[in-house]
Amino acid sequence: MFRQTKIFTSIAAIVFSTSLCAAQKQDFSSKQMQGVEQIEVKVDLDGAVKRLSKAVTFKTISNQDRNDFDKKAFTDYHDYLEKSYPNVHKHLKKEVLGHPRPYSLLYTWQGKDTSLPPALMYAHMDVVPVPEESRDQWKVEPFAGTVKDGYIWGRGVLDDKNQVHAILEAAEMKLKEGWQPSRTIYFVFGQDEEVGGAEGAKNVADVLEKRGIERFAFVIDESAPLTPGIFPGIKDNTALIGIAQKGFVSLELSINGIGGHSSMPPEESNIGILATAITKLEKAQFPYRIHPAVRAQYRYMGPELEEEMQPLYSAVAFGKDGEITDLEQQFIDVMSKNEVTRAMLHTTIATTMFNAGIKDNVLPPSATAVVNFRPMPGDTPEVIMAHLKKAIGDDRIEMKDISASTPATNIADAEGPGYKMLEKTIRQTWGNDLIVSPFFVVGGSDSKHFQARDFAPDVYTITGIQLENTEEFKGFHGVNERILVKEYARSIGFFYTLFNNLEEL
Ligand SMILES: [Zn+2]
Repeated sequence: MFRQTKIFTSIAAIVFSTSLCAAQKQDFSSKQMQGVEQIEVKVDLDGAVKRLSKAVTFKTISNQDRNDFDKKAFTDYHDYLEKSYPNVHKHLKKEVLGHPRPYSLLYTWQGKDTSLPPALMYAHMDVVPVPEESRDQWKVEPFAGTVKDGYIWGRGVLDDKNQVHAILEAAEMKLKEGWQPSRTIYFVFGQDEEVGGAEGAKNVADVLEKRGIERFAFVIDESAPLTPGIFPGIKDNTALIGIAQKGFVSLELSINGIGGHSSMPPEESNIGILATAITKLEKAQFPYRIHPAVRAQYRYMGPELEEEMQPLYSAVAFGKDGEITDLEQQFIDVMSKNEVTRAMLHTTIATTMFNAGIKDNVLPPSATAVVNFRPMPGDTPEVIMAHLKKAIGDDRIEMKDISASTPATNIADAEGPGYKMLEKTIRQTWGNDLIVSPFFVVGGSDSKHFQARDFAPDVYTITGIQLENTEEFKGFHGVNERILVKEYARSIGFFYTLFNNLEEL
């Protein structure tokens, strides 16, 4: 799930208004869609709230230790979905997929016209654990499914059972009306998004690819919810539509040397050698560059931001890959000062684990560290390993890829009909008092397993829910995860409207 922590500091001060480059002469007017009429969708809210709150009680937890996996929580939850959404289960084909453990769900809603490219709606059923040490900060029992003070509380109500259920509620409504889509619509509900989706989403993507689907017209998955201040530098209410996702690679670095007694140590210990290697690596950051998704993002966002910054945003929006102008360099200088925006400029390096030693008077015979990279396009595991070898320059350090690594994804078309249709749906649901913009997702969710392949470049990621402020956003993976009941209703309305709008795509 997309995360963002810090508010951006004022950046206007360092822009020089003197340089008038060619980019400024381009049309940099607002690209916000105008004149969309808001519509209210009537939903069975009491029933929907009961169903989502009960869903919280199934502890479909993804633990880092993959042996710690509660199969029954998933099968019980599957049964519960079947009971709760009878029309969906009567009219759609349901398959249980996942490899080696099959606990993901694929629903096929057969379209009337098989010549139309299909659409796919993605959400995940698994949730992150509730750490024991955070338990006392919760105002409710996290797996009780409490409804109080106008909210549904509990682990998964924002990330991401709300999306699973909003999709199913909306589908159930459409089926009761006797509706059938023109194009085939797939629902995919993953089992292990929170640990990378290697068993669930990846397998579903494999299966659909083998079935010969050439191209999805439209894929939607979770990302950032609509929130005022969600993106550094923008205070207004903003709906960010993810159009590309970074990759994921974890490498284990190790040294296997000679242990021994601590009374007669060698000049260099295994821990010291590995620590030096990590220090060198962290000094050898990957170079900054501007991803095409960032260009699209600033083409949309730029005109809505402070006027004095616009030459800079315009330069980014219309810049060329492979060259960096002075204005683009200024943009990079500004963005690289904040960790949230810096992550969109290069392949990041994060040392996440370090293990060595068992006793105070024993020299450990080995030491290991894990470094997690979030690659930009082109930075494959091979490229990253070559970068590491050069940075470290020590043959005693061994490295291996321990992740089900995924490459940076393709880029969805921010000018295409899928993007426009989604923006329209957002405005129909939440009105026009908000900025809608594409953005480059520096984290990633399960749909990366689709978007990295040729058959599904047009993946758009947004969590279809309005949050009141960035404080509420902390519920994602944090304490007191909760969703406003009246916003959950709009979330269902959003998917209902999306079904209608997919007809025009
Ligand atoms: Zn999620």
